[in-house]
Amino acid sequence: MNMHTNEFAARKGAPWAKAGTQPRIAIIGAGMSGIGAVVKLRKAGYTDITVYEKSGKVGGTWRENQYPGLSCDIPSRWYSFSFNLNPDWTHRFSYGPEIQAYMEKTANDFGVTEIVKFNTPVTDLTYEGPQWRLTAGDGAVEHYDIVISATGVLHKPAFPNIEGLDTFEGDKFHSARWDHSVKLEGRKIGIIGAGSTAAQIIGAITHKVGTMNVFQRTPQWMVPMPQKQYSAAWKWLLHKIPALQKLAYNFYFKIMAKNFGAATTGDQAKLAKIQDVCTKHLEDAIADPELRAKLTPSYQAACKRLIFCSDFYPAISRDNANLITEGIKRITPKGIETEDGKLHELDVLILATGFDASAFILPTKVTGENGKDLGEAWDGSPRAHRAVAMPGFPNFWMLEGPTGPVGNLSLIIVSERQTDYIISMLNKMRAEGLEAIAARQDAFQSYNADMQQRVPQTVWASGGCSSWYFDKSGTPNLYPYPPTQYLDDMHDPHFSEFRLIADVNEVEGAQGAA
Ligand code: NAP
Repeated sequence: MNMHTNEFAARKGAPWAKAGTQPRIAIIGAGMSGIGAVVKLRKAGYTDITVYEKSGKVGGTWRENQYPGLSCDIPSRWYSFSFNLNPDWTHRFSYGPEIQAYMEKTANDFGVTEIVKFNTPVTDLTYEGPQWRLTAGDGAVEHYDIVISATGVLHKPAFPNIEGLDTFEGDKFHSARWDHSVKLEGRKIGIIGAGSTAAQIIGAITHKVGTMNVFQRTPQWMVPMPQKQYSAAWKWLLHKIPALQKLAYNFYFKIMAKNFGAATTGDQAKLAKIQDVCTKHLEDAIADPELRAKLTPSYQAACKRLIFCSDFYPAISRDNANLITEGIKRITPKGIETEDGKLHELDVLILATGFDASAFILPTKVTGENGKDLGEAWDGSPRAHRAVAMPGFPNFWMLEGPTGPVGNLSLIIVSERQTDYIISMLNKMRAEGLEAIAARQDAFQSYNADMQQRVPQTVWASGGCSSWYFDKSGTPNLYPYPPTQYLDDMHDPHFSEFRLIADVNEVEGAQGAA
């Protein structure tokens, strides 16, 4: 059938919960969150699911980022789906290709891949209560009862606004669009950025390039990464006694969430320990006082997202590495000119300049009740109720949405807990024959106001730095309480925070509506 005729085939206006049928669910994104959501929804009895994926493969951030040195600085035993722990991880902090393979294998083993519409970006979502009209990039239109955005947090590369960027005549690419055809060996490399991505790239390639020129605007604190390769005997044991994997999962959860999560959200003693570890790491690794001074941040450790990396300091200390802290004046056809008038000639320019962290599902156009536009409602400062819902957007849910806990945490556990929360909402709809559920405006406002009051106690706000955590309003767009509290809260939805809509034709002027 011609995809464009689907509009006529789509089921409209048959509220599933009243009819006792399956809801039609659309999930946008086949990355970690999308894969996990399909598995959990199915387990809960929701089986009519279609996943829309803009590219040709599952994996999300692990598919997109292919730069040398890519690894996950969250321990793999914890950066795993709770329903698919993996005894075969090769390292404590696994490398990108292995994580991508794990994502693909999970999607295949759990029957996710077969329900993904690949190369099908979603361009438009419009609420036609109680359903959503979804338009894909190829013009096909479908209607869904429930839409779940699983588009990830950091998926839109940010390009620096530097004069002359387009004039550079050498090879040039963003770290998330790595050009594997470009030879690095023996060449003059320039990299703009000093974040987690840059640190991993510099650690991985400096030994083989001609010169490595690092253009650092702000230095970053780094915790050494206690990398470890797992032995064959250890893997064998985990296969024999799978319960050990759960123990390891819980162990790393406790270590990471209770230390880093607590430190960033107000535990000063734990924060001081992190500062000590970072300072000692820098002092032990960098003998040259001049270089050490350039690498010493002027803000509190963990204010920007902490970097776990043991390879960066040795790499930047090499004879073929230059740490350039003069500001960038412009980019020329031959290289980068710094404020001191010096031209740094380059063959390859790598932009490790991060992502637009305020995008989330955007640029997909999302139009809710009464024509409310999601991008306009956010206006560069995305907010959500409990990070999963927005008032005025019934039956629309987000995974890893705005104001969720991120930082040095496994986002898999966050996404799984959010999926469970959404499933509770679907169960409520089914039990009570509801047509729609939407966050209440008053609940959303008080939830976000409480968070804004708490934000100054976090190191992201008080630590004296700026980072991608900050949105247009100048506020770190993160959950400001210990992340374990978020996970606990999400166990138990408070339905009073939501409009439970029995009949969408009777909601106009309803209390709590957007
Ligand atoms: P990032 O942390 O946002 O770092 C971007 C870097 O580019 C910063 O050093 C920034 O300098 C610099 N920059 C941006 N625009 C610039 C300009 N116009 N001129 C000069 N410098 C400029 O981005 P990222 O390193 O890609 O990391 C983003 C996030 O991805 C991380 O925080 C982390 O959450 C995630 N990540 C995770 C892992 C992992 O192992 N789990 C690995 C990589 C990334 P300023 O600091 O001065 O702004």
